[in-house]
Amino acid sequence: MSELLPEPYGIEPLTTQRVVVKDSQAKLKDYPHLYTAGSEPLAVEEIRITALGTGYPARRGQGCAGFMAELGNGDVFIFDTGAGTNLSFNHMKVPYHKATKFFMTHYHIDHIADLIVYYDFGQSNGRLEPMNVYGPAGEKPELGIEALVENIYRLAAWHDRTKFGNLDKRGFEMKAHQFEPDQAREVYNENGVKITAFPVPHGIYGAVGYRLDYGGLSMVFAGDCEPSTITVENSQNVDVLIHEVFNPPQMYVDKLGWTEIQAKIVAWTKHTAPEAAAKVFSRTNPGVAMGFHSMIAPGTPQPILDGIRSGYDGPVVIAQDFTVINVTREQIVTRMVEFEPAPFLASDPEYMASKGGAEPDPSVMHGLPEWLEKTTIGIPMIDDFKKELAERGMR
Ligand SMILES: [Zn+2]
Ligand SMILES: [Zn+2]
Repeated sequence: MSELLPEPYGIEPLTTQRVVVKDSQAKLKDYPHLYTAGSEPLAVEEIRITALGTGYPARRGQGCAGFMAELGNGDVFIFDTGAGTNLSFNHMKVPYHKATKFFMTHYHIDHIADLIVYYDFGQSNGRLEPMNVYGPAGEKPELGIEALVENIYRLAAWHDRTKFGNLDKRGFEMKAHQFEPDQAREVYNENGVKITAFPVPHGIYGAVGYRLDYGGLSMVFAGDCEPSTITVENSQNVDVLIHEVFNPPQMYVDKLGWTEIQAKIVAWTKHTAPEAAAKVFSRTNPGVAMGFHSMIAPGTPQPILDGIRSGYDGPVVIAQDFTVINVTREQIVTRMVEFEPAPFLASDPEYMASKGGAEPDPSVMHGLPEWLEKTTIGIPMIDDFKKELAERGMR
């Protein structure tokens, strides 16, 4: 009998194995049925992985690709920043200054679009340090992360000119960390966390997956890719393997009106079919295999799971946004996130104090040309405040 998944976008994750026990002798922590955003401190040896975006294209219920890993040592890592993922991040009650370590798998727009949004919101919401953005080099200099960051600055030129000075300047910096994606290599090693990047086949040279190891716990985010032996080698014994799994081509024919050949080119030669993902999963044997990058709508998860089941019988989760996985030495628990529809963003006064507070600098602010400023309709308290800014050097 086939294993039946719940319908998407409810309170159940798309899996039939919510709890995977790693150590049957251990006393298991009992997690609440839902993870209420911001509510559960992590144990030191624990990782919480949240799906901020899982599909393509972005719709209100499902963003493009992006995952967040929160670690028991306080570190936060963001893997890819597709459209809609920043919106999800804003619901997770994680202060912006924690989101300073970004790891990009490749530079398709559906994986990078929100990087500039993190740049913006972090400036105004308490990030008083640079964003560190890790990513592969490409075949040419203009195809690597260094060029991408320079191009984001260009795109943000108008934005930065209006905001520089009224916000603390420390929030206006991105540091690119570029590496050659020709073989598996360690690209990060700090505070007990090691991240290894490994090449994956995805259209052209310059796409990678990442493996994170921390306190004997591990996850792989393979990014966008065809199935590859390199991914298999680098994902051995991993707790959570996040690997793309595309919808069967017939769905695109039936629902989107694609031709069969177009659907097969995309689903089978640029991405990973469920039956092919099964090969990666069975050779890797992860604690939990999580498939992402499929369009999740009523009725679509089941055929994906059935395809995976043609060659893999281990624990599988089909990712929808706000799926959350807690990993400890004892167990791997998959749930959904419960969040407020329009929360205030998380603030962290202690952090702000440790940085000496946010320090605007009106002397470097740019203002309107005089003729346009003169047209603004004032009231006394605002006119007075503008005078004060002018006295402090604002042009
Ligand atoms: Zn891609
Ligand atoms: Zn993609």
